[in-house]
Amino acid sequence: MRALVVDDSKAVRSILTRILADIGFGVAQAADGVEALSELRKAVPDVALLDWNMPNLNGLELVVAIRRQGAYDGVKLMMVTTESETQQMVRALDAGADEYVMKPFTKDVIVDKLELLGFPVRQDA
Ligand SMILES: [Mg+2]
Repeated sequence: MRALVVDDSKAVRSILTRILADIGFGVAQAADGVEALSELRKAVPDVALLDWNMPNLNGLELVVAIRRQGAYDGVKLMMVTTESETQQMVRALDAGADEYVMKPFTKDVIVDKLELLGFPVRQDA
């Protein structure tokens, strides 16, 4: 299983990368929406975790850009958002996001959401 973590915070990218690696994902990272599209062209992941507030395409714009391309139809998109952005989540879900988690998140929440999306995460992790 492959995951792409997109966040302009290096700390958040590191935390998410560790969680995902622990439960069996190979993880690529991108620091903004433009970098994310470039990573997607290199390798198509099974799931992408997308920050909302980022330079060079925010999370919502990135969802729209990804869903515009049929080649990425199989990529599950999980928004990682803050409470102040939750009212806008409906726009991301309308645009094709599959799930969302709120910051600050825990490993358990990330694992639960990945299971909801159908990923066979390692229970012993
Ligand atoms: Mg951000």
